[in-house]
Parts: sequence; C-alpha cells; structure tokens
Amino acid sequence: MQIQTATFELSAPDFEGCPESDLTEFAFIGRSNVGKSSLLNMLTRKKDLAVVSSKPGRTRLINFFLINRKWTLVDLPGYGYAKAAGHDRKKFQQIVTDYLLERPNLSCVFVLIDSRHSPQRIDLEFTGWLAESGVPFVLVFTKSDKSKPGAIQANIEQFKEQMVEFFEGEPRIFICSSKTESGRGDLLQFIDQALRA
Ligand code: GDP
Repeated sequence: MQIQTATFELSAPDFEGCPESDLTEFAFIGRSNVGKSSLLNMLTRKKDLAVVSSKPGRTRLINFFLINRKWTLVDLPGYGYAKAAGHDRKKFQQIVTDYLLERPNLSCVFVLIDSRHSPQRIDLEFTGWLAESGVPFVLVFTKSDKSKPGAIQANIEQFKEQMVEFFEGEPRIFICSSKTESGRGDLLQFIDQALRA
C-alpha cells in the first residue's frame, strides 16, 4: 500500500467525542517512549504527523488521522503513566478502554513493545486484558536497529512464553525500526489485507 494522503482529523477527549465514521480503524498504543510517534511518522512518511498528538494537552486524547481517504489511523494515549495522579490516570484509562471495547469499526490494535527489553509487566498485563476482552491485536517490536537480531528474538520468545497464559496460538508479530524503515512494508501489507477482507 502506498500512503498518498495522511491528514489529522480530530482529537477526542472521550468516547462520545470520537468521530462518526464507517471507515475501518487501526489503533496504535504502547508505553510512553516506546517509539509510537516515530513509527506513525515512518509509516505515513509524514515527518510531523504525530507531532499533533504529542502537543501539550493532546497526549491524553485519542487522535484520529485519515489515511488515503480510505481508513483511519488512531493514535491512542500511551499507557503506563505511573506518575499521573489517581483521577487523571483513571480518566485516561477510561478513554482507552471505552474506545477499545466499544468502537464498532476498530479492526486491529497494534501494541508497541520496545524490542530492547525483556517482557515488561505492564505490556503483558495490557496484552492479556486485550486477549481476555476479545479485542484483536498484533504485537509490534520497535527500535529493532538498536539491538542484535538474536537479542530481539530472545525477548520476543520470552514474551510469547509468558503470553501462553492468556493467548492461544501464535500472536502476529512485526519487528520494526523507524530509523531504517524495516518492517514498514509488512505492517502496511497487513493493513491492506485487513481492508480487503
Ligand atoms: P513515543 O513516546 O512512544 O511517541 O516515542 P518517540 O517516537 O517519541 O520515541 C522515543 C525516543 O526513541 C526518541 O528519542 C526517538 O528518536 C527514539 N526512537 C523511536 N523509534 C526509534 C527507532 O526505531 N530507532 C531508534 N534508534 N530510535 C528510535
């Protein structure tokens, strides 16, 4: 798939604020600093696409981007804001869970995981919650240029082993680098196939 156009649509503060749309949606989420903005910019080849999402006040919102006037890329707030105060944190979790559980045109969630680290509890917990809730997801291991392939594979294997508790079968896995653009074609092909299904 070629990305011809990628334009910011709107930021939603809550589920009610999400745009009315029949277009298929693909959502991206991960811990803050996992490389989500870089990945979205790399995928769309728009240097500043995700700048919109990272503007002050927008990081806790759901940001919608229209791609090729055909599908919607949804940038979800990063999870694991350990520092956020109780009320803020709850509110943020509410936006994300409402969207993931209630959005009828959501096709797939891309869960971003930093390929440099062994499995982190928060990533496993979130992935486990998606699986239990029946939300379709795939795993995207980011920053692959930063480690040796063997080390990345070892982290992925550990993640898969720990997922066995809550996920039957093999999760779909992508290994990406926003620096080298490795994995870009596979991700876009996956989206293309989902759109045709
Ligand atoms: P976000 O908080 O998840 O949106 O993360 P960012 O995209 O802002 O990335 C966090 C940091 O990791 C930044 O310093 C990026 O330059 C760096 N980064 C992100 N993706 C990659 C990657 O694929 N390769 C390398 N080498 N650095 C990356």
